[in-house]
Amino acid sequence: NFLPRSGLTRLSGPHTGRVPVGITGRRPRIVVTGGAGFVGSHLVDKLIARGDDVIVIDNFFTGRKENLVHLFGNPRFELIRHDVVEPILLEVDQIYHLACPASPTNVMGTLNMLGLAKRIGARFLLTSTSEVYGDPLEHPQKETYWGNVNPIGERSCYDEGKRTAETLAMDYHRGAGVESSSCLLEETIASLHCTNFAQIAANQIVEDGTTISCPILNLGCSCLWVNLLNNYRNSHITYRIAHLSVFFLSPPSVRDITVSDFDVRIARIFNTYGPRMCLDDGRVVSNFVAQAIRKQPLTVYGDGKQTRSFQYVSDLVNGLVALMESEHVGPFNLGNPGEFTMLELAEVVKETIDSSATIEYKPNTADDPHMRKPDISKAKELLNWEPKVPLREGLPLMVNDFRNRILNEDEGKGM
Ligand code: NAD
Ligand code: UDP
Ligand code: UDP
Repeated sequence: NFLPRSGLTRLSGPHTGRVPVGITGRRPRIVVTGGAGFVGSHLVDKLIARGDDVIVIDNFFTGRKENLVHLFGNPRFELIRHDVVEPILLEVDQIYHLACPASPTNVMGTLNMLGLAKRIGARFLLTSTSEVYGDPLEHPQKETYWGNVNPIGERSCYDEGKRTAETLAMDYHRGAGVESSSCLLEETIASLHCTNFAQIAANQIVEDGTTISCPILNLGCSCLWVNLLNNYRNSHITYRIAHLSVFFLSPPSVRDITVSDFDVRIARIFNTYGPRMCLDDGRVVSNFVAQAIRKQPLTVYGDGKQTRSFQYVSDLVNGLVALMESEHVGPFNLGNPGEFTMLELAEVVKETIDSSATIEYKPNTADDPHMRKPDISKAKELLNWEPKVPLREGLPLMVNDFRNRILNEDEGKGM
């Protein structure tokens, strides 16, 4: 189960991160970390619908099995209860990394998923956030803006965690480029003194400058390995390995020859709403919708003049997939440029759910960004993506889901 994927994807020419069906005889295999959450579960639905094999990794910290229960029993779907802070070994073609507790463990989880992607040559997509722009001094925000984040504030754990995750992703991306210089097989043989179980993926073995094959050398022990390498040596041909990965099960004796062949993608997601959102995580859309259904006043923090731009979840999922399938690293803003003050949002919620709903003002939280609106020209141009669902159309699409869950909750409490 340690088969490296990079060799397989290379067979199809330019590395797209997807293994075309027919060439390897199997469907793309995709990991979605945080797939039991709000965004993740919608993404999983889309991937399954288009025929992919999907593995969800989730520790159910904020996610729920209910979001995926309709997929249980589907042979193309697998759910692993696992905390991404712990290392994991899997073989896949793409990793959508959404798992993210708003805590420092966010960084550890990202590091592990990058390590996994690097080892298996998978394409890795990080779901970063518009929070990396902090309380922005540029409006609307372009991807080139570096942000205005208070590093010691109440919300900085999330913001700085995601900023660090972006840094890690870019470092791995740059590292992959630096490491993929070719090395002579002869030199490699000479430098390997491995006594561990190992596997080699020798992609693009080149003879006299021509690619002759992409063998996957899957070796169970070092003596087999040495025999095989000797065969190459005895053929008196100089082979050059353009992409070489060596994987070890036990602590490696040779680390510095690992050459990775994987891709990174970064999405900066702006405020997103839709069915399956957490009912009580305190975000403004879920708060207002739940409050209106429960006949409670809508809690507006501060003067309600701060702005956000709200994106419907299906638009986001389309953007994430477009980015994953593209040849661009990013970062890309994925958000709906329609900008609303919180008071305007409250009005839309009243129009949609209950026109008699009242408003209750509460103190705002520290460091709350005054405004936020994505500039999406980059995603429009390079990903051919833009959101389609305006707030007034999207909001009604989440009301039934919220009503049902609130009703079930009330019944659970004996109300
Ligand atoms: P969510 O809380 O609904 O989903 C996150 C999922 O990750 C949950 O299922 C949770 O159980 C899981 N998880 C958390 N920590 C984990 C861990 N250590 N190991 C395994 N699983 C873990 O949140 P969401 O709104 O669906 O967000 C998904 C991603 O998008 C997150 O990375 C988030 O930062 C990013 N994002 C979301 C928004 C938004 O408006 N929803 C905006 C910006 C960025
Ligand atoms: N990792 C993982 N699965 C893998 C490969 C790596 O979870 O298949 C984890 C590994 O445990 C490490 C992290 O990813 O904590 C980073 O791995 P990398 O090889 O990049 O760094 P190193 O181990 O050399 O520090
Ligand atoms: N907010 C509000 N009432 C609420 C919850 C949030 O007025 O019940 C405000 C909050 O102060 C912020 C905006 O809504 O200005 C968006 O908050 P959210 O937590 O949804 O998103 P983020 O601040 O992360 O963009």
